[in-house]
Amino acid sequence: MCDAGAVSTANNDPAVPPDPRPVCVLGLGLIGGSVLRALRRAGRDAHGYNRSAGPVAEARADGFQVTDDLTTALTRAAAEDALIVLAVPMPAVDPVLAAIAEHAPDCALTDVVSVKAPVREAVRAHGLTDRFVGGHPMAGTAHSGWAAGDAAMFDEAVWVVAADDGADPDVWARVARLAADCRAVVVPAGSADHDEAAARISHLPHVLAETLAAVGAEDPLALTLAAGSFRDGTRVAGSAPELVRAMCEANGPALLGVLDQALELLTAARTQLAGPSGTGDGDLAALVAAGHAGHTAYTATERTPLTDLRLGEDGWLERLRTAGAEGRVWRG
Ligand code: NAD
Repeated sequence: MCDAGAVSTANNDPAVPPDPRPVCVLGLGLIGGSVLRALRRAGRDAHGYNRSAGPVAEARADGFQVTDDLTTALTRAAAEDALIVLAVPMPAVDPVLAAIAEHAPDCALTDVVSVKAPVREAVRAHGLTDRFVGGHPMAGTAHSGWAAGDAAMFDEAVWVVAADDGADPDVWARVARLAADCRAVVVPAGSADHDEAAARISHLPHVLAETLAAVGAEDPLALTLAAGSFRDGTRVAGSAPELVRAMCEANGPALLGVLDQALELLTAARTQLAGPSGTGDGDLAALVAAGHAGHTAYTATERTPLTDLRLGEDGWLERLRTAGAEGRVWRG
């Protein structure tokens, strides 16, 4: 582990200085384990906690400072003024927050959970809002656990940093610096806006992938023939079922809205394909045109630089939310 003075990330924005303080990662699975590795690569001082001993032994063997005792990790974080990163699934957020409220209530706090409003509400219930700025790295694989982690997981990935009213500018800067040190690009967004957007581009794709995989598996010949379209369309259905459920169900209200939109499109497409005879002599022109236009818009989306953050000035959070909505990103 490098010492705290060895921060190597370039700093081009005075609003987001290098952060010499340590980072404490709670949960050393795919995402938490990747954060710990990426921070070591950046020369940051970081340590971690995992509740089960196996991954702790693996992480120690890889040279990381980790423990399976949450109180020990939090007591150390409080003594070092560390930034705490909550990297557990949504159902585990509440008990871990309770421990943070008991042992490290003054530490700056962020998270990597795939939904933002429910985590923010849980943080509020534990009285930790003042030191909290939520986050969500938009990266991952279908695998889980410490062994699946990768220091390069977040390279060039988007990392949403929540720009909710009341956020502390110093904590916001520390969370943005964390993301930049992991070589991600920061997109500011309000928690509710994030959840609506994530429902569209992450949670609905999970639901549709599960659907495609279930329909495909009805026929053994179909599985034998399956090639690129089936593989790509069902890739995320290979994720751990409990993680998919935790992610999608925690964003239920937003997911319901976009699922309704998808069902409307599918119902209209079915009617069109059924055709005048009702037996399938129609076409799919409307759905395919809309889908192709959507894919073209996706591939043409550009990230423009967000400079001059001016954190803490009047209206700074609203300006950040507007910048994020316009596709502007901050790089460390
Ligand atoms: P993972 O299964 O690889 O790791 C989960 C970690 O949480 C493990 O270390 C596990 O020991 C720990 N954990 C589970 N229940 C716990 C409990 N009750 N108390 C303490 N620790 C507990 O999962 P992951 O993919 O790393 O997901 C972690 C978080 O990251 C989730 O909130 C997920 O929504 C979010 N996320 C996942 C992805 C992805 O693609 N997998 C992407 C971005 C964000």
